[in-house]
Amino acid sequence: MSEILIRNATIAAMDAAHGARPFTGDILIDGATIKAIGPALAAAPDARIIEGRGKLVMPGLVNAHTHSSETFFRGRYERMPLEIWLLYAYPLLMNDPVGERLLYLRSLLLAMESLRTGVTTFCDDFFDPPRHDLDRLSTVFRAYDDAGIRANVSSAAMNVHTLDALPFAREVMPAELQALLDFGPPMTAAAYIDYCKSAFSSLHGRAGRLNFMIAPSAPQRCSADLMAACMDLAVDRHVPFHTHILETKTQAVTGHELHGKSLIAYMHDLGLLRRNTTIAHSVWVSDEDMRLMGEAGVSVAHNAVSNLKLGAGIAPVRRLLDAGVTLGLGTDGVSSNDTSRIFDVMRVAGLVHSVAGPDYRKWVTADEILAMATIGGARTAMLEHVTGSLEPGKAADLLILDLRNYPFMPLNDVAKHLVYSENGSSIETVMVAGRIVMQDGRLTTVDEQAILDEIAECVPAHLAEHAELERRNAVFEPVMAEIHRRATAKDIGINRYQGSTV
Ligand SMILES: [Zn+2]
Repeated sequence: MSEILIRNATIAAMDAAHGARPFTGDILIDGATIKAIGPALAAAPDARIIEGRGKLVMPGLVNAHTHSSETFFRGRYERMPLEIWLLYAYPLLMNDPVGERLLYLRSLLLAMESLRTGVTTFCDDFFDPPRHDLDRLSTVFRAYDDAGIRANVSSAAMNVHTLDALPFAREVMPAELQALLDFGPPMTAAAYIDYCKSAFSSLHGRAGRLNFMIAPSAPQRCSADLMAACMDLAVDRHVPFHTHILETKTQAVTGHELHGKSLIAYMHDLGLLRRNTTIAHSVWVSDEDMRLMGEAGVSVAHNAVSNLKLGAGIAPVRRLLDAGVTLGLGTDGVSSNDTSRIFDVMRVAGLVHSVAGPDYRKWVTADEILAMATIGGARTAMLEHVTGSLEPGKAADLLILDLRNYPFMPLNDVAKHLVYSENGSSIETVMVAGRIVMQDGRLTTVDEQAILDEIAECVPAHLAEHAELERRNAVFEPVMAEIHRRATAKDIGINRYQGSTV
């Protein structure tokens, strides 16, 4: 690849020296890498020149937490708390997994929408029960390779029976329903670790931008020996130990019911709060939990939109930051969010924390949100040396936005426009590892129209089968509703619900 020179652009580098404070300059890209940033840079005679006047160049956004498995379920559900929504989006009684071609299209669709809306890196906690299948994981990698996105991809693991991962479930669920959920012996830690090792040797590092990460689903859904083995391997391979902790009040109650302590304290006591630990949600954490998290240097993927959609509550973001926790932003899956747009999460996260209290000096700033969406997200993915800011030596993962567009008209403060005004409509060019993957409103890597046509053609039959599956699983809804009712009625000394109680 030859050089690309972006000249005279407004640059929001998100590096340590500038943060979100914009400056005017050139960016020289050599192959996959940023070679230099500064005024009046010289380039090779055959360099491609991009005129940057009137344009903003910023790092590509990082989606710190998503699940490609939900991509066909956008616009499908509403008015359901997590425990009930899971019944339908991740049914207890399952059909055969989605076929090979639909699996490819589903993954590709997520990558396409993400790139179009400025996400150059995402962390896909890929959930594909009942098995961990290397061929299927490889299909997901192939989709991301074809789309041109940077990704961390897991194969989400759990080995505790659903009824033992929920408070009150064994007493609330009638025996005849419990009998439907006997799926045989759970996966052993050794079997999952073997699988992960094969994923590392065959898929990790593909195309120089696709990584495998380790994702035990949640501490109540995984045995302690499985999580310990996962952490050892994650530390050994320098990848995240990506998990879900304290998304809902029911989960907060779960920790106390199962272990007599919060799930964060439980993780701490097992030695599982580490630099590698990336926690999705962290809504129902106590002050003591946050102290432990900060001390351990964990990071959190904050899913502001998903948490609202599922009524989970509002994460104590200011207190997490004060405790020293690194935050990134995640959409969560496309079913609990309905889009994969990080710009939407930025706006909601920028707004929702202002109702945390009247002390407006503690409200989250646009600069902080922008850092979460870029360099903070990169850190949650353990990719901060690769992406998340524009600096010489880092990958050329960047966006070029048109400053002559409505969200910037007229221009006041770049970070505030990006958080409160921009929705992705100003993006002209998206580059991943120096390769232009979107330009002039079109993805350059895939035939978008053909893919969208194929999805529109093939997916309705799959959704009809899924509707039938939903009907079969509805038998469990009264039980989940009762668990939710009991758990949310408990006083645990923390309240992350806000606003009126009507
Ligand atoms: Zn999740």
